[in-house]
Amino acid sequence: MCGIFGYVGASAPIVPMVSSALRTMEYRGYDSWGIGWDDGDRFHNRKAPGRVPRVIDASPQSGLAIGHTRWATHGVVSAENAHPHFDGAQQVGVVHNGVIENATELLVSLDGTANFLSETDSEIVVHLVVRELEYGKTFSDAVEAVFLQLTGSNAIVVANRATGEIAAITSRSPLRLGRRGSSLYLASDPLALAEIADEMAEIPDHTLVTMSRSSAMLRDILLGEEVVPTWVPVPADAHVEVGEHAHFTVKEIHDQPDLLMRLSAREDDVTPLAEAITSHSHLVLTGCGSAYYAATLGAEWLRQRLNETWVEAIPASEIAATTRNQGPKTLVLALTQSGETADVVDVLHIARSWGATTAALVNTESSTVATHVDIAVPLLAGTERSVLATKSFFAMVMRQLQLVHAVDGLPRSLDDALFEPVSSAINHWLSCETLNELARQLEVADHVLTLGKASGHKVALEAALKIKEGSYVHAEAFLTGELKHGPLALVSQGTPCLLFATAGDEVASAKIASREIMSRGGFTVGIGPFDPPDCSLVLWVADLGAAASLVHIVIAQRLAYLIAVGRGVDPDFPRNLAKSVTVR
Ligand code: GLU
Repeated sequence: MCGIFGYVGASAPIVPMVSSALRTMEYRGYDSWGIGWDDGDRFHNRKAPGRVPRVIDASPQSGLAIGHTRWATHGVVSAENAHPHFDGAQQVGVVHNGVIENATELLVSLDGTANFLSETDSEIVVHLVVRELEYGKTFSDAVEAVFLQLTGSNAIVVANRATGEIAAITSRSPLRLGRRGSSLYLASDPLALAEIADEMAEIPDHTLVTMSRSSAMLRDILLGEEVVPTWVPVPADAHVEVGEHAHFTVKEIHDQPDLLMRLSAREDDVTPLAEAITSHSHLVLTGCGSAYYAATLGAEWLRQRLNETWVEAIPASEIAATTRNQGPKTLVLALTQSGETADVVDVLHIARSWGATTAALVNTESSTVATHVDIAVPLLAGTERSVLATKSFFAMVMRQLQLVHAVDGLPRSLDDALFEPVSSAINHWLSCETLNELARQLEVADHVLTLGKASGHKVALEAALKIKEGSYVHAEAFLTGELKHGPLALVSQGTPCLLFATAGDEVASAKIASREIMSRGGFTVGIGPFDPPDCSLVLWVADLGAAASLVHIVIAQRLAYLIAVGRGVDPDFPRNLAKSVTVR
């Protein structure tokens, strides 16, 4: 996962520059951080577990540096395992994003000749590069030779004091080259380049970048050909501040009314995708985590419209195992915030190998997914910093409502009669004190059950995920119709159960479930068009058809946020997680 960074340029106060770039990439991994710089005779470094501090007690000037924010895959979270890793003479350093799948074999090949200081797979790269240099290779040839020995998805940035160079290369891990004047940068994400570079270029897979103080050379190592970078401006809106809010999570929850307006004004964006959907007979919606739950909601709605189309929602990590290859009849629609999620990127490779059409609902418009699918529909949510997906999930749901309407040949998903009640209900729940009181009750619970039928169940899945990841309270979603077939055994005195239902059968089924739970002492919260006696507590939302899901989602998100804060968890950075899951 992790964020990696490299700098070659004029001598500059290096620690503030690299640490500020690393802070923008902490969403990619925040269990430890590290910065290494050339201090004239060797590499020096600062590394530590935890978040990148705002103030680091080091003020060197340097023109050669690398940095890293880590999400551990090999070895515990510790200063020793934090990147960069260096050779014993502190002349070569590496930062790495990915998993070296053949690390054990490569370790054996070093035959005890290297002194390892960490438990990471990444440190192997340094020792292998040093061995290649000892064989007489040039630095860039040495890095190329080592990269070709690695299996898995990896991006490596290797710095060499002797030549003053950085050599970097990637396979299925994002890497951007940035430049301003004669200064050159490498970063996993454009966010890290926003303040320091004017232009950036995506580094294609298997392209070796060799940066020195005068230039950057790019070469495709498989074809042996020079690659000319395609420079684009660094996105200006990449940098966001938390503003008046305590956390990005709540800021992003509050961004949603504006987002609703923005998406409503851009309804036509979905037209090419709607046309593509109706011309395919197999539609696979996919994503990971919240995006997968959003996909299940879209699949449910589209399945009801598309009689001739086989519609399924499958987690990206399961597609290879569970979907039949239907060749060019298939349209694979990926839902993704970052556009870099490894499992989603893999799915698109698989889809292309089938000859399928690829499409995405994607938030980061410069991302790997957005730039490589046949049809990309922007989510327009703006930068989402919190690890908890909120506004990106909301946008995915809204885009799918628009798709359903476009497939039906209807011009607007939220017409005038619907937009106003949806928008005012969202605004109501963004400030409603009842949610604060309910959160105080739920934050002391060991378990929360979330329940629903059909679309209500999909929202219940997302609600349970938000509560789990935001506050570490165990929350689990069930179908209301399945309650008495097992989950009811979990209900005892006071067990909190959140019931989501938009209308019709969903409400009827939730009412039955609520009665059964209350009869056994459970505490039910009905979110939807319930009457007060139906549940222990009703958070009333009008019957707004499918669009009511947008309101239910906001209630679930705000509740999860308030529970997290009540339990003292920073929901922007929950333990063990990272926002963009770029490892498999
Ligand atoms: N495998 C490396 C480690 O555990 C890098 C992990 C990452 O990409 O975050 O340090």
